[in-house]
Amino acid sequence: MGPGPSGIHPSVLAAMAAPTVGHLDPYFLRVMDEVQSMLRHVFQTTNPMTMAVSGTGSAGMEACVVNLVEPGDRMIVGVNGVFGGRMADVAGRAGAIVTTLERPFGEVFSPQEVADAVKRVSPKVVGIVHAETSTGARQPLEEIAGIVHEAGALLLVDCVTSLAGIPVEIDRLGIDAAYSGSQKCLSCPPGLAPVTFGPRALEAMDRRRTKVASWYLDIGLLRNYWGQNRAYHHTAPINMNYALHQALRLVVEEGLPARFARHALHHAALRAGLEAMGIRYSVAADNCLPMLNSVLIPDGADDAAVRTQLLNQFGIEIGGGLGPMKGKTWRIGLMGETARMSHVLLFLAALEQCLRHQRVHLAPGAAVAAANQYYLAH
Ligand SMILES: *Cc1c(COP(=O)(O)O)cnc(C)c1O
Repeated sequence: MGPGPSGIHPSVLAAMAAPTVGHLDPYFLRVMDEVQSMLRHVFQTTNPMTMAVSGTGSAGMEACVVNLVEPGDRMIVGVNGVFGGRMADVAGRAGAIVTTLERPFGEVFSPQEVADAVKRVSPKVVGIVHAETSTGARQPLEEIAGIVHEAGALLLVDCVTSLAGIPVEIDRLGIDAAYSGSQKCLSCPPGLAPVTFGPRALEAMDRRRTKVASWYLDIGLLRNYWGQNRAYHHTAPINMNYALHQALRLVVEEGLPARFARHALHHAALRAGLEAMGIRYSVAADNCLPMLNSVLIPDGADDAAVRTQLLNQFGIEIGGGLGPMKGKTWRIGLMGETARMSHVLLFLAALEQCLRHQRVHLAPGAAVAAANQYYLAH
């Protein structure tokens, strides 16, 4: 129940143990085709250039940024948490002239703020994080693509934590490029980064004057392997692709609407339980992510001691705060397979036990009762 990696279905782990075939084996090429088509489904896009980059979510971030910007290009990055900060760092290293749009941790950007910044800077790319895992805030994306496109810029969105947990509507929203990671709501081990590029992004890549600074992450070269040519580029991590293939099958089988509803249900039950014991969220209710619950550590509780006891006595991992939230918040994940009633109820009971060990008495019994009540009513 941390901020990722999430729980993994046994069939995904079993898929990883299948025999390793060659990266050009016809069987593996079919696995790749199916991974691509299921990723299009999850990203809600028809973009042909949708694939899994070999590497974790940060490799997906880097792949998007280095392919979209050339040295000297202007890029705006929304920084309201650790991952926006990372994107700005990556863009700077790629030679972009970066303008950061900043908000305190836990807050989100308004379309107006983005519009003002775009007018001021006239960037080539605007990068924004959909689900800030460091803060638990959900960035509304409606209207933003229109604003960015009107200024002739491209919209890049970090969907690492949002993909397969809340809707990521690449085509409807007009998102030009996006990246994710396998180990959050897709519930696969870490190691692959789904990415998707729309027609505007591909045109911008075709118009580049300079080579992409990263050979490994050059989408132009990767297109030859994941596209029709099947030209050797690097040895794909075969067994990781088996795992992602199976994880995506489970997502497709459940169905996106049911999967989003499941995340929302368990988030609401967890929230009912936490609030019944007097624990408050660090993000305004309107912007709370269902898969990442960031709450304020109650007075008198020792951050590390509670997390250690949860892990050692109950086998439950939760995350601590990052950056300025270190020591102030806990981050409770309900990502993918982890979003289950059994997890929510055990966690609430266990948390109460750990808090009472520290003489923090918060309405004993109330949390589990409130979560149970929520489940019974919904
Ligand atoms: C986890 C995460 C990343 C980085 O992914 P890694 O797999 O750790 O490299 C980037 N952005 C967001 C929003 C994340 O949650």
